[in-house]
Amino acid sequence: MKHFTIFGNPLSHSISPLMHTYALKDLNLKGEYLKHELIDGTKLKETFFDLSLDGANVTIPHKEIAYKQCDEIKGVAKSIKAVNTLIKRDKNLIGYNTDAPGFLMSIQDFLPLDFALVIGAGGTAKALSYALLKKGVCVEILNRSEGRLKDFKDFSSFTWDTFSPKKYDIIINTTSAGLHDNDLPAPKKLLLPTLKLAKYSFDVIYHKQTPFNLLSKELDKPFKDGKNMLLYQGVLAFNLFFDNRLNESLITKAMQKAFN
Ligand code: NDP
Repeated sequence: MKHFTIFGNPLSHSISPLMHTYALKDLNLKGEYLKHELIDGTKLKETFFDLSLDGANVTIPHKEIAYKQCDEIKGVAKSIKAVNTLIKRDKNLIGYNTDAPGFLMSIQDFLPLDFALVIGAGGTAKALSYALLKKGVCVEILNRSEGRLKDFKDFSSFTWDTFSPKKYDIIINTTSAGLHDNDLPAPKKLLLPTLKLAKYSFDVIYHKQTPFNLLSKELDKPFKDGKNMLLYQGVLAFNLFFDNRLNESLITKAMQKAFN
């Protein structure tokens, strides 16, 4: 019997336990996946071993602090400096980031891309920017304020005051604008001309139709929300929990049930 959990705070909105429980059941695997609201992120590693876990997912706000507590970091998580998946190997904690490849899987039909604009400069912006960079896409960052742009030294970056609209293949909203309000992620006078020139748009928010996606719809641009990114990061994490020996399509089919 294997034991998994998701660490985060708050976790009431998380459908990860449901996704993973469907996968365990439908693939006939012995295990349980619970949730653990963790207030103090510095206690993550200690809690992981106290709970005798085999693997875990990490969500807001602990992805960066989890990265710091890992004994080994794999893949693109080294550049992002944030992990959302943890695996126990002997007495060590191994960290991965499946948000980045999960995002790429969700925009498969938009690829190839040459030039992307990522709006926002938080953890999700970092994961998506490095995912695209590793695919050879030139990425620029646009953020409301300057502070967090210092974490994007590998990219050209702008604030609302220094940005001029240009032609990108895809515009990606990674901010939480539109999640609990009706805000666009940048002023309409910047966003509208940029979206008009773009081929595609993408919003990481998956709970609702955001003003950003509505604007893309009005402009007749192909757009996606973050639902499949959430699905695929879960599929990849689940397969890592089982040494990557499972069939991805079967996991995907099982996890999709959580969205119905
Ligand atoms: P962070 O808090 O790390 O980053 C937030 C960023 O958004 C900052 O750059 C901030 O700008 C900007 N921002 C916040 N509010 C506004 C606003 N009203 N207008 C313009 N900019 C704003 O968040 P995360 O990166 O952790 O998460 C962002 C979103 O991604 C969340 O909605 C989350 O639910 C979603 N998400 C989706 C996933 C999926 O699988 N689909 C996976 C992970 C996250 P500033 O620096 O100026 O404060």
